[in-house]
Amino acid sequence: MTAADTGKGQGTGRPGALLGREACEGFFEALSKHITPRSELRWTTPLDLLLAVVLSAQSTDRSVNRITADLWRRCREPEDYLALGEDGLVEAIRSIGLFRNKARAILGICRALRERFGNRVPDTREELESLPGVGRKSANVVLNVAFRQPVMAVDTHVFRVANRTGLARGKTPLEVERQLMQRVPARFLTDAHHYLILHGRYTCTARRPRCAACPVADLCLFDDKTPAPTAET
Ligand code: SF4
Repeated sequence: MTAADTGKGQGTGRPGALLGREACEGFFEALSKHITPRSELRWTTPLDLLLAVVLSAQSTDRSVNRITADLWRRCREPEDYLALGEDGLVEAIRSIGLFRNKARAILGICRALRERFGNRVPDTREELESLPGVGRKSANVVLNVAFRQPVMAVDTHVFRVANRTGLARGKTPLEVERQLMQRVPARFLTDAHHYLILHGRYTCTARRPRCAACPVADLCLFDDKTPAPTAET
């Protein structure tokens, strides 16, 4: 993670202070009124989503959506990717970063799905993490988004927002994930990943968070909130 990811340099809120139970409830209640909790990656099947998550590493969802629209006209099953082969896949995804590594990862996943899972994407974290190149965060995204399981994928945005606001305090994504799992009210848990990602992407941004337009500003414990613009600024 970079300094921007961890919030270093942008402050991380009062060290150790955590939002109370009612504040956590109010926090997600407010976000739920302003955010539609959905993935910005386009997908139809769990396989689409899993491979889109692999493609999205260090790339924007928008750039991934640009290439998957065409890719998915040609590839619907693991066999289709394997038939395309490394050269064909590289050609199809070369507009995004790390395309060669990503092509190899996709082929490795498709081989494993064919050999061990009957061409289906598994729906347990243990099985997903057994696929080549699939870590805890990616597995949690697939479990949450494709299979609607109440798990918490902690990416750069979730990590920053949680630490800044006092929803959770942790030095690692795993620490933050465990705290969020305990502290997010049960009725918001399944959608919490999207609420926090989208809030971090568009409002509680790494640099100059838009505090004046933030629906949870009255609850957030961040000490260095961005002041509202004045007539002179
Ligand atoms: S007030 Fe809102 S935008 Fe500002 S730091 Fe807190 S959560 Fe982020």
